[in-house]
Amino acid sequence: MKRLIDKLRRTHRLSAEEYAALLACEERSVADYLRQQAGEVALAQFGNGIFIRGLIEIGNRCHNDCYYCGIRRSNTSVARYGLDRDTILACCKEGYALGFRTFVMQGGEDPSMTDEWMEQTIAAIRAAYPDCAITLSLGEKTREAYERFYRAGANRYLLRHETHNDRHYRMLHPAGMSLEYRLQCLQWLKEIGYQTGTGIMVGTPGQTIAHLVEDILFIEAFHPEMIGIGPFIPHHATPFAAEPAGSVEMTLKLLSIFRLMHPAALIPSTTALATLVPDGRERGILAGANVVMPNLSPPEQRKNYSLYDRKAAFGAEAAEGLRELSRRMEAIGYRLSTERGDYNHV
Ligand code: SAM
Repeated sequence: MKRLIDKLRRTHRLSAEEYAALLACEERSVADYLRQQAGEVALAQFGNGIFIRGLIEIGNRCHNDCYYCGIRRSNTSVARYGLDRDTILACCKEGYALGFRTFVMQGGEDPSMTDEWMEQTIAAIRAAYPDCAITLSLGEKTREAYERFYRAGANRYLLRHETHNDRHYRMLHPAGMSLEYRLQCLQWLKEIGYQTGTGIMVGTPGQTIAHLVEDILFIEAFHPEMIGIGPFIPHHATPFAAEPAGSVEMTLKLLSIFRLMHPAALIPSTTALATLVPDGRERGILAGANVVMPNLSPPEQRKNYSLYDRKAAFGAEAAEGLRELSRRMEAIGYRLSTERGDYNHV
């Protein structure tokens, strides 16, 4: 197995069978070696600086009904909200003062936040913060909407494909949503010129090693600038309430594989990882991640952006907890970087 890991580090790719063998291997020494190699590659690529992104959860209204997600349309037990433009700008102002140079606007797919409103909101942030990157994570839109947002000043877009297997996709989403359209959106985003992020949840119901290999091969071919990967965590008011959470070990293993495949990728150590285990954030960094996304949303709304149970949003997860996060990064030999942290085409 170590030979396979060396080969992946050297050539950035393995065959489907080799990926499957690596994912199925449960030996601790192999997992440790994989993490160590990926950590070295990230350090060589980025030094010990970890990019910070300020996450603004702009609203939790959603017309989609994904079976895994706590803000799905059918969950009537969550209080719905949508931030107004002034509140979003106030979040950016607070974030800018704290040192953030990337704002990530994420939200449910809310038809009342029209493309026009979104476009004007992006333009207002662009005008106020010309030196900052604007990242969007607003789900599936039309090509025209993506183009308008890009012209208004957005630079990056995160859209996890969630699974590249059509049957598995249909186990996670109701009829009316399709893998085909999600992949089409990713293609458009890339063509338009966004730095594009995709990725998966690890351990969603029905996920197999064969599915994960399909995800790896898709990511290899698509070559996204950003790769988002976190464990699935159940939410009590969804059809997947009784399902087990994804494995931290498998999440870290995939994260390291992505780092070795794609040394320059921007890979966050995700909130879901930090929610499952207290040192999840640090373990993600040591496994090859180089980005963290503290929460800049208004504190009183954070509980309502409940994608899964016990989602971390305070302490080191919060923008106002930056000092604690910084201390925790320093304890493992890293430091927070206030650079904008664009993808570096090398
Ligand atoms: N609606 C947009 C979209 O679909 O990309 C953005 C918001 S969506 C809630 C952001 C991400 O949250 C999804 O891509 C999914 O991977 C993640 N997510 C949703 N439910 C989750 C759960 N139960 N456990 C872990 N991650 C979850």
